[in-house]
Amino acid sequence: MQTRIVSIQQGLGAAVELIKSGEVVVFPTETVYGLGANAFDGNAVRKIFEAKGRPMDNPLIAHIADMSWTERLAVDISDDAKAVMNEFMPGPITVILKRSKDVPDEVTAGLDTVGIRFPRHDVARQFIMACGTPLAAPSANTSTKISPTSAQHVFEDMQGRVPLILEGGACEVGIESTIVDMTADIPTILRPGAITQDMLVKVLGKVRNFDGKIIVAKAPGMKYKHYAPSCEMVVATSEDNAAYEYGRQLALGRNPVILAKNDYIIGLGFNVIRLGERDEDAMRNIYGAMHEAQEKYDYIICQDFGNEGIGASIMNRIDKASGGKRI
Ligand code: AMP
Ligand code: MG
Repeated sequence: MQTRIVSIQQGLGAAVELIKSGEVVVFPTETVYGLGANAFDGNAVRKIFEAKGRPMDNPLIAHIADMSWTERLAVDISDDAKAVMNEFMPGPITVILKRSKDVPDEVTAGLDTVGIRFPRHDVARQFIMACGTPLAAPSANTSTKISPTSAQHVFEDMQGRVPLILEGGACEVGIESTIVDMTADIPTILRPGAITQDMLVKVLGKVRNFDGKIIVAKAPGMKYKHYAPSCEMVVATSEDNAAYEYGRQLALGRNPVILAKNDYIIGLGFNVIRLGERDEDAMRNIYGAMHEAQEKYDYIICQDFGNEGIGASIMNRIDKASGGKRI
């Protein structure tokens, strides 16, 4: 077998075709390069183990390109698990959830749980989205070798064993994802990584760390974001940023909406919920608008109300809802 390294611009079509025909493809993520196959196709997943020379009793992680894909992979997802996913995904974390019946044993190694990860690397996201199916993937190295953090690493190790490597540069994080088991009584870190125990404790209040110690949050009331809508929300610091972020989310397959006062300039064809003329109107309407937005849309972009007077009070609530995220 010839192994080709290609950019996503040149190779996306071929890579997707390989996945659809039940083959494996190497793709970059922010942690390490992964060796992926359609997570719902047990035969395709077997080829990962063949290429790696890895025993089948080691489970793989299902990589997704949209949060909604979790629903086909997992069941009984707790509020804590949702909070972790909303906070850190897309990013270098894997959550262990109770598996759905649709997930083949080849992925879970027969366990009743499944590992789910939503990588933030652009190439990974584009590729998985274009495949339209979660990709089961371990690191793209042969068994017992070091995890690859460049396409060249993969090539040196797996040349002749895989048809295609998508080039994505050097991995930004460089070690495998944090794994947190959300099915345990106390959420448990199975593998430490870039998402640290402190970051997890802030969201969960309590975690069992990799050494088996139980870590409890210092400050109370940090467990969840307050007043948070069920979908992601960000604050746009300018009208241009709002329009740009809107376009970016559309391209990711989301259905965004902009929350803004009447004088905020928004082009035709954008989803928008108007908050009224004055800050007082916006204050009155903001929660209602968030409710409406989370019903009808799946990504909220809110205008910045500044840091004075009533504007500052509105921002206090919006920052809690958005986790302080600004673009
Ligand atoms: P790799 O990143 O190459 O080591 O492959 C995925 C790793 O994720 C496995 O070695 C396991 O440590 C872990 N993993 C995946 N699914 C599960 C699961 N359901 N329960 C526990 N660990 C898992
Ligand atoms: Mg590995």
